Amino acid sequence: MTNKYMYFIANWKMFGRLNSLNSLNKVVKFSKNFKKKKFSKIIYCPPNTLLYPVIQKLKNTNIQIGAQNCHESQNFGPFTGSINSMMIKNIGAKYVILGHSENRKSGETDKLINLKIKSAINSKLKVIFCIGETLRDRKKKITRRILKKQIKLGLDKIKDKKNIIIAYEPVWSIGTGFVANNRDLSKSVAFIKKMIKNVKVLYGGSVNTKNIKELKFIKNIDGFLIGGASQNAKKFIDIIKKTYN
Ligand code: PEP
Repeated sequence: MTNKYMYFIANWKMFGRLNSLNSLNKVVKFSKNFKKKKFSKIIYCPPNTLLYPVIQKLKNTNIQIGAQNCHESQNFGPFTGSINSMMIKNIGAKYVILGHSENRKSGETDKLINLKIKSAINSKLKVIFCIGETLRDRKKKITRRILKKQIKLGLDKIKDKKNIIIAYEPVWSIGTGFVANNRDLSKSVAFIKKMIKNVKVLYGGSVNTKNIKELKFIKNIDGFLIGGASQNAKKFIDIIKKTYN
């Protein structure tokens, strides 16, 4: 794994205070001097309270910013507590994570995710579209059926998929320390790539500084969506370095 273009997306979830921005200094320094920088794209997705400060902090660096979710309406509206894709774009973010299983768990349907994706694309954001099977699905051996349904419904009536990146995240791997074997993961990646031509597919679910040595060999993988480990700059940098070693 030497010169392949790879994404490293840090999902901070509902973590981080203003002083958490200090930890970005290390990552900025690293990304400037990293000898594989031409082949790697680092994207930070902090919580909404930190979106603008992180954008300010990382301007003039090669690190980009994304939000973790958005409302489906592209217009302003009476939706207390929400932000929309146009507002995210307006402050200078380039990406948005949509369909994350933590949001699906709190009621987001495929239909709603589809509306959100459409609004994000209309706002000229790139979408990190999360899909993945639950442990129950896996045990029932219906992983492919689930992925197919999530892709079909989530991307319904979206013809141009060039701004979509898929994050394949088995739900049972997120934040649990349990990771499927590379053979199974490679099969799912191949299945997704067969369904959507030329799409980038990332893996997410308990990526850490140890298992990256194995996960980087998932066949045709284009990068990683990293939750817990991305909150620690040293671990996040280590994951990136080990991907290329
Ligand atoms: C995630 O937030 O999408 C994720 C994969 O989290 P973790 O790395 O903590 O499992």
